[in-house]
Amino acid sequence: MTEAEVRVAIVGSGFSGIGLAVRLKQAGMHDFVILERAADLGGTWRDNTYPGCRCDVPSHLYSYSFALNPEWSETYSPQPEIWDYLRRIVERYGISPHIRYRHEVHNGQWDDQAQVWRVKTASGELTAQYLVLGAGALADPKLPDLPGLEDFQGEIFHSATWNHDYDLTGKRVAVVGTGSSAVQLVPEIAPKVSRLVQFQRSPGWVLRHSNRRITEVERRIYRIIPGAQRLVRGSVYWSRELLVFGMGFRPGLLRVIEAMGRQHLRRQVSDPELRRKLTPNYRIGCKRILLSNDYYPALTRSNVDLVASAVTEVRPHSLVAADGTEHEVDAIIFATGFHVTDPPYSERIQGRDGSTLAGIYAGSPRAYLGTMSTNFPNAFFLLGPNTGQGHTSALVMIEAQLGYVLRCLREAERNHWSSIEVRPSVERAYNGEIQRKLAGSVWNTGGCASWYLDANGRNSTIFPGFTWQYRLRMRGFRARDHMVTARRGAAVAPDARQ
Ligand code: NAP
Repeated sequence: MTEAEVRVAIVGSGFSGIGLAVRLKQAGMHDFVILERAADLGGTWRDNTYPGCRCDVPSHLYSYSFALNPEWSETYSPQPEIWDYLRRIVERYGISPHIRYRHEVHNGQWDDQAQVWRVKTASGELTAQYLVLGAGALADPKLPDLPGLEDFQGEIFHSATWNHDYDLTGKRVAVVGTGSSAVQLVPEIAPKVSRLVQFQRSPGWVLRHSNRRITEVERRIYRIIPGAQRLVRGSVYWSRELLVFGMGFRPGLLRVIEAMGRQHLRRQVSDPELRRKLTPNYRIGCKRILLSNDYYPALTRSNVDLVASAVTEVRPHSLVAADGTEHEVDAIIFATGFHVTDPPYSERIQGRDGSTLAGIYAGSPRAYLGTMSTNFPNAFFLLGPNTGQGHTSALVMIEAQLGYVLRCLREAERNHWSSIEVRPSVERAYNGEIQRKLAGSVWNTGGCASWYLDANGRNSTIFPGFTWQYRLRMRGFRARDHMVTARRGAAVAPDARQ
């Protein structure tokens, strides 16, 4: 197979990868490819097609700042509209010719001698000066490790790999998990199935959903006066930032929001026993807050049972819960989340000395600004470690990172560097600071177990602060934070590696 050479290889065609592609093109850099493992683009918004899937962040904010969409039909868009939005971006900016489908990355290895990344994909090999991982945090579905799972005789699928060929009508169905995915899909399927058993290891905090249709008049205004939509976007952004006071610094303040959650539960569930089971025993915000007006009502249906217990075993025709009860079902839907802190790609990316990202992480992903790691020159991670947030749009963080990546590329070009890498002391200091700030946050002290915490119990996902602080930080480029290698034959850069 021929080995192609590109300047930038981007892994993944979700919001991160497509966003970077647009920014590269806008900067006049056209020598890049997007390596996409699937046969279509869109990342998590292509994969998650479960009934009821929609964004739980307002769409005015859950879109690129450089491509506002006046056509959103609802304030919180359904999945098909978001997927469609991404496809239109790809068309509008001429990204399609750069996408290589069915190119799952099997291995990426930094060649220090040649100062390039050698990338092996499912459809051939290539070398790239820069490797940008936009593989996504919510990309690889996670099934619990349950004894007997393989012997189950009925249908099994994950919320992110929905089997649309399987007709749930009249079936006895188990839903495992009570996160953002479950609360969206349960109300959709409950009226169809003969029996739904909802397994709840721990209840989530559910708040009233304020989703509504966007009127034609509003859409017309947004079309004619883009500034009006920008204004709405700004107000959504800043009102959400207020939550950081409570989540990041003063978890006690979140009691006010807990009261809203309790009131929502009281209004929607009259049975005291069911209410008791649905009342969380940890601080709101510790896990992602759930928004729904129809989840609680779905649980009050006569054909729905709430089992307030984890699933511990699967038998050929049933599930067994930790409370000892056994429940016969025809199908199991796992809404059990994703490999967030142990992504498969971390096993496949090897740095200068051959060690993998996973090896270096040892269960606790970390990076400088969530974007760069020592030993991995010319590699960038989009939505990397500690760039998550529980209150706003991931796009805010992604766009800040895109700016930083572009700045690094420009600086390297201007100064004739063949590689750029964060200094180990700078990466260590940054992560120390992140962990110190997280120590008092609701994500660490709220009294829950969440996917924000990794296998070692360390919070490797959340950025503990206002996102404007992160954005400000990402605006500058401090050459002294990095080690660089001068291009062969080029003048040695002032701060080149010793
Ligand atoms: P999740 O939040 O990781 O939830 C997984 C659920 O599975 C949890 O409720 C967990 O229980 C449960 N679970 C795992 N093993 C279990 C077992 N053996 N028995 C019973 N329950 C078990 O996954 P998700 O709902 O797919 O959401 C993941 C993330 O995706 C969200 O936090 C959000 O960021 C994103 N998302 C966003 C949207 C959106 O609207 N934008 C929609 C869906 C998802 P515990 O709670 O006890 O751990």
